[in-house]
Amino acid sequence: MLLTDMTWPAVQALPRETPIVFPIAALEQHGHHMPLFTDSLLLGEIVRRVSVVERFTEQVLFAPLQWLGNSDHHLDMPGTLSAPPRVYLDMLHGSLDNFIQHGFQRFVFVNGHGGNDTPGKQVVFEARQKYRSRADLLFLIATYWSLGGQPHQVNPNIQQDRMGHACEWETSMMLCIRPELVLNHEQVAEVPFGNPFEPASRGWIMPDRSEPGHIGNPSIATAEKGETIFTVFAQDVAKLLDRVLAWDGRSWNG
Ligand SMILES: [Zn+2]
Repeated sequence: MLLTDMTWPAVQALPRETPIVFPIAALEQHGHHMPLFTDSLLLGEIVRRVSVVERFTEQVLFAPLQWLGNSDHHLDMPGTLSAPPRVYLDMLHGSLDNFIQHGFQRFVFVNGHGGNDTPGKQVVFEARQKYRSRADLLFLIATYWSLGGQPHQVNPNIQQDRMGHACEWETSMMLCIRPELVLNHEQVAEVPFGNPFEPASRGWIMPDRSEPGHIGNPSIATAEKGETIFTVFAQDVAKLLDRVLAWDGRSWNG
């Protein structure tokens, strides 16, 4: 079910255990070869593939994709639009509160932008404290490339073993859905991932890591790899939603 297409009485009539999915993405620089809307286009395609699965069209409510993300670390490159981090936290909290006011119980942020991961986790953590008297609420966030899928193991032509930025993976997915928006990726030089004090987490802005704005190797991207990557990650999101549907409404385990 798509929230954008429904009337309020139709939403009112839904079972309150209906999972509510909030897709959250970004509008930010993606190097010299990809458009600013890349993250939103890619997550939109993953959510589209999941939302047309029959059991989800009947049992899951999909809110429209929120394209404004937490992208302050990309603001050195013009065109990037970012909700300041604390504004972003409030915005996600507000989305939850709006549905909780009407009795809904299960919430999943499906994330398609690395910068939303930390504030998204903060929001689900804080929301549980805020509604601490309620045992029937479920707050989840999942970044689509962090749900366990390993595209490079499914398609051995894929060389990167993790998500970068405007990289082999993202460029391949864009070649799959919007090739006319990808510019001369074959000529883009690789920017290595490096090792920023791993496994510690280091604060960063894009110029610390990449002058052109990408991280990884876009030159080896193909549409065929993109199809594999979409398939793997859409399956992961579908599996998560199946677990949310199967949740008994009280248990810690899911
Ligand atoms: Zn991206």
